[in-house]
Amino acid sequence: MPEIESFTLDHTAVLAPYVRRIGVEHGPSGDAITNFDVRLVQPNEGEIPTAGLHTLEHMLAGLLRERIAGVIDISPFGCRTGFHLLMWGEPAVADVVRALTDSLRFIAEDAVEADIPGVSALACGNYRDHSLHSAREWAKVVLERGISQDAFARVGV
Ligand SMILES: [Zn+2]
Repeated sequence: MPEIESFTLDHTAVLAPYVRRIGVEHGPSGDAITNFDVRLVQPNEGEIPTAGLHTLEHMLAGLLRERIAGVIDISPFGCRTGFHLLMWGEPAVADVVRALTDSLRFIAEDAVEADIPGVSALACGNYRDHSLHSAREWAKVVLERGISQDAFARVGV
């Protein structure tokens, strides 16, 4: 079995919400891709319901790209406590936290149904399973706690 970094993380020691740089990989042409652990909920103490997580996924896909350059993908963890974020280059964690916080603030305070992109049978694999209400309430919970720049200590919140 190859060693998977995420399975070596002590999930009982982290303090969510946080953004953690998992690692940087370089392609054959030298391009760097950075993988981030975007943890919104404390592991094994809760999880975002599927519909709310799905709506956060759709909205963050656009909101993050508007706020920080180099986003390749942001996809939910199967455990539903957060997202993997893949980015070109080696962005600073603080910049990711800033863009994420601003995106979540929009979802918590301003978003209406029309702001959720791709909610149709044409554009989504399960378009009936969305909840802006849940996305908004979970965004508020994350913002109240603040997003740390360190997985094991509350930094910059
Ligand atoms: Zn979808």
